Amino acid sequence: MPYRYVRVFFAVFLGFTLTLFAVAADKSKSAAANANQPSYDLPQPQRETLDYGMYQRIRDEGLGHSHVMEYASALDDDIGPRLTGSANLKHANEWTRDQFTAMGCSNAHLEDWGEFGMGWQQLNTWIRMTAPDTAVFIAQAAPWSPATNGAINAPAVWIDVKDAKDLDQYKGKLAGKIVLYGEMRDVPPVDKPLFVRLDDAELKKLTEYPLKPRGRDFIEQYMKRLELRQKVGQFLADEHALAVVTPSRDGRDGGGSGGTVFDDSGAGFGWEAYKREHANPLPVVVTAIENYGRVYRLLKAHVPVTMEMNIDTKFTGDHEHGYDTIAEIPGTDPKLKDEVVMVGGHLDSWASGTGATDNGAGTVVSMEVMRILNTLQVKPRRTIRVALWTGEEEGEFGSYGYVKQHFGNVPLSTAPDQLKLPEWVRKPAGPVQLKPDQQKISGYFNVDNGSGKIRGIYLQENAAIAPIFAQWIEPLKDLGVTTVTMRNTGGTDHEAFDAVGIPGFQFIQDPLDYGSRTHHSNMDTYERLQPEDLAQAAVVEAIFVYNTAMRDQMLPRKPLPHPELEEQRRAPLTNIMPGAEAAEKDAKEKADQTPKEE
Ligand SMILES: [Zn+2]
Repeated sequence: MPYRYVRVFFAVFLGFTLTLFAVAADKSKSAAANANQPSYDLPQPQRETLDYGMYQRIRDEGLGHSHVMEYASALDDDIGPRLTGSANLKHANEWTRDQFTAMGCSNAHLEDWGEFGMGWQQLNTWIRMTAPDTAVFIAQAAPWSPATNGAINAPAVWIDVKDAKDLDQYKGKLAGKIVLYGEMRDVPPVDKPLFVRLDDAELKKLTEYPLKPRGRDFIEQYMKRLELRQKVGQFLADEHALAVVTPSRDGRDGGGSGGTVFDDSGAGFGWEAYKREHANPLPVVVTAIENYGRVYRLLKAHVPVTMEMNIDTKFTGDHEHGYDTIAEIPGTDPKLKDEVVMVGGHLDSWASGTGATDNGAGTVVSMEVMRILNTLQVKPRRTIRVALWTGEEEGEFGSYGYVKQHFGNVPLSTAPDQLKLPEWVRKPAGPVQLKPDQQKISGYFNVDNGSGKIRGIYLQENAAIAPIFAQWIEPLKDLGVTTVTMRNTGGTDHEAFDAVGIPGFQFIQDPLDYGSRTHHSNMDTYERLQPEDLAQAAVVEAIFVYNTAMRDQMLPRKPLPHPELEEQRRAPLTNIMPGAEAAEKDAKEKADQTPKEE
């Protein structure tokens, strides 16, 4: 019997005996019976007690006296892009730690989540066509690309590879060449705005719960494509090609054009290019689609093309560690101060822009939340802890590492096909293993969907919390916060908490030009940040954090996940056809002999 049911059974049994033997089941007695139960398991009040005065003080400090853009400029302009493993990211870890101390936080420090891989920095990249005409290209080195060690000038050749066997035709033909790798894609007209906000109809749609479970197919397809890329990279290196040029992928509504280059894991040769054993085997550069298109069309028409390029990059160590920045405002209630509410986002970014919206935005919003609460000298009942994660872009390493060290861990599948995959895509196997502090954290709030203001919150299928958040946002409707949805959202650090049964949330944010232009691109810069949106996000998040720290009980939880029961729960029902004969009967007999789970 899972632990949770034991507890429910015990509570019911205890309640029964109390009615039998107690003369008057007064409140103090039932409170004593519940004394050892974490407060998230107790019945929740119908009405939330909200401190409207504090709502207003937070609004005044965050909207009228915002400093969020100063944090943004220091982080994005001065420190710059923050690829995991890089010296810039370590600098950002130290700077955020020192800023938390300066604004009045306690216990600001860095926590090591483990070994990551290679440190890397792009020093310079240029590429141009030299014949049949001259043209300067817009380009970025793929992350963890090796250097060309000076300028190279060579004939260009396009390879047509959809499958590993397509490589055979190029044996012995690529030495000394610059290789264009990738089909030319559509470049649709940008006839819709790149910058959008959620309207009422879209917000309403977000509140509808999707009834079709999400498959894992897309992950498997994606991993297959990356596996092919890794093979191609090795082949090209073995054939002594000099360097590789790839086309930028597209963004939402054709945003991957007009000078925007997306430069993440998809640009190089394989997901784990940051590990020495999976390193890009030759220099690789990603170019604007229009630049790629010109050379592609010339080569397909058999016009000889020569190109010149120089990729200058620097590697700093093969075994760099990753760190999370942590700081606190200590709790003051003698009974509740050991409980915590956490707030944060990831500090790392990709390398070609300055990571201003992904996720400089979530970082500076978290910093502003802590600055607001420090400035107002709040005395929270529970401890408020901020965490800035790293290694998010490569697999949410910083948050999962922290949660594993402090709260609990979900063992992953060790099936042979699963072991071949990077950890972040492997299926959870369970059972979930918990540490005592898992019972001491009320909730975690995350911002990582760009610069857009907060329009609501994803409940992550935690139905018990819907009436609570609905009351919290009532006084925030004039700021555009209107929507509470049962939906899950994924792809960022609240998932690490959710996986071990801790309420973890990501807000609904206005999309702006995040999906079309800034997410993982060379255009992810300070200019794309919207100051009013970020100030609003900090105010809303500060209020959520404050309410969580102050209410009598911890936030209610979903049942603890049981990935180990997933297969059994999905298995088709047996013996349901009354008219079925031998085969069903055999199966039934077999099933009867198999011991039942728990
Ligand atoms: Zn992100």
